[in-house]
Amino acid sequence: MEKTREIVLAKSAGFCPGVHQALERVRVLAERGKGPVFTLGPLVHSDVVIARLEAQGIRSVDSLEEVKGKGGVLVIRAHGITPELEAEVQAHGIPVVDATCPLVKKVHKAIARYVAQGYATVVVGDSGHAEVVGLLGYAGRGAQVVSGPEEAERLPAFDKVHVVAQTTQEEDVFLKTVAAVRRRSKTVAVSDTICKPSRDRQRETVDLAGKVDLMVVVGSRKSANTARLAAICRRLCPNTVFAESAADLDEAAVRAARRIGVTAGASAPDSLIQDVVSALRKV
Ligand code: SF4
Repeated sequence: MEKTREIVLAKSAGFCPGVHQALERVRVLAERGKGPVFTLGPLVHSDVVIARLEAQGIRSVDSLEEVKGKGGVLVIRAHGITPELEAEVQAHGIPVVDATCPLVKKVHKAIARYVAQGYATVVVGDSGHAEVVGLLGYAGRGAQVVSGPEEAERLPAFDKVHVVAQTTQEEDVFLKTVAAVRRRSKTVAVSDTICKPSRDRQRETVDLAGKVDLMVVVGSRKSANTARLAAICRRLCPNTVFAESAADLDEAAVRAARRIGVTAGASAPDSLIQDVVSALRKV
């Protein structure tokens, strides 16, 4: 019997420009062959990509201690770091390549500008996420991280507060959180720092997830932006599944679907997305 299943791949699926740029930087450095290339933390939440980088001699380290006396170059990943850590890295003496995404740097600058004017900072994001840790480094004492409006309701009242978003934040969550902060503070400044690539990806995902009967989100469960995409999809398409690899696909669920949407987080490599799409086509 002829298959009538349609598979729609989101145009925005896969690496965002910031991750793409960081990967290009390390590739060029490794090709130069002037000693080892270290990254301060993994460049992406993808075991496939990390294994590929390791094969090229690019190794993720957790601390500066690990690179002591080894030569080579240290790369700061797209998430960015705190000014304190930046000073430590500079003092360490190892050559540094800063691959912080320019869109993350814009958030650093926005936070620092308001801190200089005496504003407290509220970051709407994932506590402990590398980008958020970096943002807090610019935010001064008393900065707060909230995941959404519920947590914002428990914040103290501020005289002057500046609200920013983690760059991958969901627009609706950010706006509702801003509204909650406004209800309890005198002067509120808002920098909507959700990056355009994340915004575009989320909008396309909303559009697609509402029109399919199975939604596949490709990427790592460890990736915050991928988890966020999956949450958006589930609201519009209860039949949403995570695929860290093609092996995660449930054949019965795929067979039962007429129209399947595929999206992917900012750290999912094209090869993985294509693997999943071809596995879906084969069912
Ligand atoms: S998600 Fe946006 S801000 Fe973050 S690295 Fe990617 S492009 Fe840059």
